[in-house]
Amino acid sequence: MFVVRSMKPSRKPGPYFFALFVLSACFAFTFRSHHAQTNVEYDIVIANGRVMDPESNLDAVRNVGIRGKRIEVISATPLRGRTVIDATGMVVAPGFIDLHSHGQTDENYRFKARDGVTTALEMEVGVSPVAAWYGERDGKSLINFGATVGHIPVKMAVMRDTGDFLPRDNAVKRRATPEETRQINELIKRGLDEGALGIGFGINYVPQTTRVEIFELFRIAAERQMPVFVHLRHAGGVEPGNAVEALQEVIANNAAAGGALHVVHITSTCLRQTPVCLQMIEGARKRGLDITTEAYPYTATQTRIDSAIYDEGWQERLGMTYKDLQWVATGERLTAETFARYRKEGGSVIGHCIPEEISRLAAGHPLVMIASDGLIHDGKGHPRGVGTYARVLGFYVREQKALALMDALRKMSLAPAQRLEAAAPMMRSKGRIKVGADADLAIFDPARVIDRATFENPAQFSEGINDVLVNGVFVVRDSKIVEGVKPGAAIRRTN
Ligand SMILES: [Zn+2]
Repeated sequence: MFVVRSMKPSRKPGPYFFALFVLSACFAFTFRSHHAQTNVEYDIVIANGRVMDPESNLDAVRNVGIRGKRIEVISATPLRGRTVIDATGMVVAPGFIDLHSHGQTDENYRFKARDGVTTALEMEVGVSPVAAWYGERDGKSLINFGATVGHIPVKMAVMRDTGDFLPRDNAVKRRATPEETRQINELIKRGLDEGALGIGFGINYVPQTTRVEIFELFRIAAERQMPVFVHLRHAGGVEPGNAVEALQEVIANNAAAGGALHVVHITSTCLRQTPVCLQMIEGARKRGLDITTEAYPYTATQTRIDSAIYDEGWQERLGMTYKDLQWVATGERLTAETFARYRKEGGSVIGHCIPEEISRLAAGHPLVMIASDGLIHDGKGHPRGVGTYARVLGFYVREQKALALMDALRKMSLAPAQRLEAAAPMMRSKGRIKVGADADLAIFDPARVIDRATFENPAQFSEGINDVLVNGVFVVRDSKIVEGVKPGAAIRRTN
């Protein structure tokens, strides 16, 4: 219409002219849509897979066309691609987002990728200094990575604790002076300025930290609209100083400071009181607080034997004894003698103390996200660092029927992405399969997917996760790591 009117006709255009115009417009339209279906070649096409998107609840056989790092089309009709993989019988899911991934090395990223994880974030212990940490991984990572600024590493640096990863002396045994507290707060603010995704806490590891110190940091996070990720002050059910009391501390802080609170590994902290803890979180959410939580799908914990977790009274607190402890380096069960010796030497220990029914409850609970808490070093560690996601899909979804597949995918991808969106808007294009989303995908066989990692031999890749893409690049193909690719991008605060 505009074209016709803007022309300066010497005479009125007759009906013949209009017919020609309409015809050519129709032809152009037909040509374009025909072109879209047959002539466009995408970089990668995932053909005939069962596409499951927890945001739209799409669960249907579709073809996914990827160009560059993005999903460009999701189509019921066939697509052409330079690389086409046939995903018949496979589930095509958003890549998993691990909010609690201590292992931030190439070794860990490889185990993660084979478990379907496309984004691994160190949100609990966190890091410091933040800019240097990101700098070491930019352009060199198999999967996406990111971190909070950690209260623990900052406190260890300021108080000159000699611990490695977790504190063991100055930050554990004495209070911070007012001057040290001031320095800690400054370093945390600097970390947030450098793009950290929030503040990470492990209060249980630095038990001399006062409630005022913690509240002050909750306020700093809330002021900047950044979330806090917290390992609570206490674990287990023994009064006083149990997990419920510790959860009350952070819920009260959140109510008073505002902001967003994520409570890490609810099962390993609350143990048999997990149902009460979940009730408290659910109630707080109903009253308008922004509180979320997570769990890993295993019945044992792992931490350092020389940390405050194993201070006097651990047996009563955690409801276990020496034989429930397994030394990571050798796989042996401990005795009073070996416990005393290893506690002096230091190192990682697994604690078999989470009841199976508690683990199952959390796996199936809609409020509880899946996060691994994993850390593998030279093939040693807790199987959660290797098999968490395949275990939920194979053991809890398929075998135990503790939850539906779509709900599991939501707890592994969409929910963690949403948790971070306010702090990192880039997460809006992750955790979903939709046009315009980042092509972070996990393609797995729902009939075969299962974890293989065990407490005795954790370094065994998950099975049934055939193909994984990170930002439109295959990092796993036909159940093998693709060598030489580093498509992982930094997840950091950009607003
Ligand atoms: Zn923890």
